[in-house]
Amino acid sequence: MAKNVLVYIEIDSNKVARVSKEIISHALSNFSDSDINGVVIADEKTVNLALDDLKKCGVKNLYILIDNIFDTHSTCLFSGVLERFILENKPDILLIGATPDGRDLAPRLASKLNIGLTADCTDLQIDGDGKLLATRPTYGGKMMATIISKTVPDFATVRPGAFKYNSEIVHDEPELVYINPDISGLSSLMEIISSENKPKAEDWTCSEIIIAGGLGLKTKENFDLIYKLAELLKAKPAASRAAVEQGWAQQNIQVGQTGNSISPKLYIAFGISGAMQHTVGITNSDKIIAVNIDKDAPIMHLADFAIRDDAVNVINSLIQKLSN
Ligand SMILES: Cc1cc2nc3c(=O)[nH]c(=O)nc-3n(C[C@H](O)[C@H](O)[C@H](O)COP(=O)(O)OP(=O)(O)OC[C@H]3O[C@@H](n4cnc5c(N)ncnc54)[C@H](O)[C@@H]3O)c2cc1C
Repeated sequence: MAKNVLVYIEIDSNKVARVSKEIISHALSNFSDSDINGVVIADEKTVNLALDDLKKCGVKNLYILIDNIFDTHSTCLFSGVLERFILENKPDILLIGATPDGRDLAPRLASKLNIGLTADCTDLQIDGDGKLLATRPTYGGKMMATIISKTVPDFATVRPGAFKYNSEIVHDEPELVYINPDISGLSSLMEIISSENKPKAEDWTCSEIIIAGGLGLKTKENFDLIYKLAELLKAKPAASRAAVEQGWAQQNIQVGQTGNSISPKLYIAFGISGAMQHTVGITNSDKIIAVNIDKDAPIMHLADFAIRDDAVNVINSLIQKLSN
């Protein structure tokens, strides 16, 4: 059944945010017969700077809600603007990236529209009746729940990294629809007293090779070998939550439900059991190699290549071979 899908497109550093591209890619390949449209809220300068990227994002119609008041980003104001747009345009499905801004904007919007919201989804499909099947971890990540909303539009936020984005696919340019929205009666409810630009942390989650260590590495000294091997393989290091909790790695390189979702070409897990809270973050990896002494560890069944061996031995031999 054809659906009218609306993706809220976030702009980040004058580009379409990666998560918005991921959502659009997923919708284009999985929501057959549906119209995938986008909506962006920004001031004129931001729109002009991001326009080239916006034109390549793959949506059919791109609604650009433009006003110079939007130079100050405010999720309070944006939720009011979006509410009016949605009531007028009546999409069947509404999707927002679960970025810090998206996580602030979406519940405000759901409350205004009096609709349900399935937050932080890791999968989205459309069933035979045209309803959105929104899947997300539940019960502390022990289960995956697929939620069907009783309200319209179906509304979900999507975890960054949950879907793949292929930058090589060239899309037709969208129909650009510029709108000066009616902002009468809307305010930001917030006053920005001061702001500062923080240098952006490098986004390592889409690196081609990611190698991670877990509790099976036993000591911080052993975990440090992950950094050494990563350097030799031109890969990025990562960790399980248990390794982070041991203080062996920083939380920003944690993979999983309460860490990052990753989509590398190759993921190598050393001494990681493969608890669901971990594997929910690695399902988009093209190939997974697991090194574990326990052949029945869950990750050994999930992996494309399962190596039953001592993780430190394997890392040391790889380091030796690569150093030579
Ligand atoms: C709400 C919630 C959110 C969570 N979020 C996350 C998350 O985002 N990311 C995450 O990772 N976890 C998360 N967890 C924790 C998760 O449930 C697991 O506890 C954690 O992933 C286990 O980490 P681990 O695999 O490193 O350790 P363990 O489960 O202890 O596994 C260690 C593995 O190492 C193997 N091993 C032992 N010795 C060796 C050796 N010499 N060589 C090779 N292998 C060896 C063992 O066989 C075992 O399989 C979360 C939990 C909860 C409740």
